[in-house]
Amino acid sequence: KENIARENNVAKIKVVVRKRPLNKKELARKEDDIVSVCDDASLTVHEPKLKVDLTAYVEKHEFCFDAVLDEYVTNDEVYRVTVQPIIPIIFERTKATCFAYGQTGSGKTFTMQPLPLRAAEDLVRLLHQPVYRNQRFKLWLSFFEIYGGKLFDLLSERKKLCMREDGRQQVCIVGLQEFEVSDVQIVKEYIEKGNAARSTGSTGANEESSRSHAILQLAIKKHPEVKETRRNNDGNELKSGKLVGKISFIDLAGSERGADTTDNDRQTRIEGAEINKSLLALKECIRALDNDQIHIPFRGSKLTEVLRDSFVGNSRTVMISCISPNAGSCEHTLNTLRYADRVK
Ligand code: ADP
Ligand code: MG
Repeated sequence: KENIARENNVAKIKVVVRKRPLNKKELARKEDDIVSVCDDASLTVHEPKLKVDLTAYVEKHEFCFDAVLDEYVTNDEVYRVTVQPIIPIIFERTKATCFAYGQTGSGKTFTMQPLPLRAAEDLVRLLHQPVYRNQRFKLWLSFFEIYGGKLFDLLSERKKLCMREDGRQQVCIVGLQEFEVSDVQIVKEYIEKGNAARSTGSTGANEESSRSHAILQLAIKKHPEVKETRRNNDGNELKSGKLVGKISFIDLAGSERGADTTDNDRQTRIEGAEINKSLLALKECIRALDNDQIHIPFRGSKLTEVLRDSFVGNSRTVMISCISPNAGSCEHTLNTLRYADRVK
């Protein structure tokens, strides 16, 4: 009973907006900061507009979310608001997902990168608590990417992966490497290795990775007792235990990339269409979850199919929408906020 009470204390879906500060280039261009955070749950966008006679005016757009974080909020605070409340219930069969959504350059990777490390710290600490100590729980990590609708293992030379569904509608990513991690230093090394392996084309640092979704998963598994340890054909211990709960961190493709569907380059167009499809499907799935719908439209995209088992049963979703404050990004910022608004 106590467990249930604790689970219910954490909202099923939480939508958080994070504004980044103006960067050097924007400051050098003397761009206006058009986003004002009113309080810890609301903000206003001041959209610069022109009348037909070219007189300038400002149109105000107000939004409310579960939490709004301004440019002074640190990554530690982001962790406390978004992921930390979910950590204890991972041990109680919860599957959680934490997304970073927003246009390229809005701070998704900056926001997302430290979160799994902090989560691993807390998970490892809980593993050693008296209540769990005798449960043979272990922490596992995997890291992969969805690029153009295909899966690649970021911790295994970008090996191409495929997805399979078993009879009980459990998703299995065939060949995905999972690593048991017992301390946080190792987690840090895997995160760095995976990030270095993300698609970065010759065109520039942000160019290619902005077209992919990166998914890092931390799973708590319960290991079989030594006497019941199964062995595979080579006589080696089968590594995986039984899944208890997990949390997935998803650094989504740049939201503006979904609009690349009319680009002259065929490849770019295909990727744009795939991104557009996945971000729409994601929104539909979260909305369906929020309405406690029985039918969740996973089939809409590779992204939502892969996350299928995280959307059923005892699930938790945190959406972190990242926004740029400069006037030049106004349209993208409004699109991001409208997307976040509809998720709720
Ligand atoms: P995205 O992943 O959405 O394309 P990044 O996370 O790469 O964007 O952020 C773009 C740039 O802005 C990076 O140089 C990053 O360090 C910086 N940045 C993003 N968010 C913040 C923030 N809240 N505070 C300070 N710098 C930030
Ligand atoms: Mg990024």
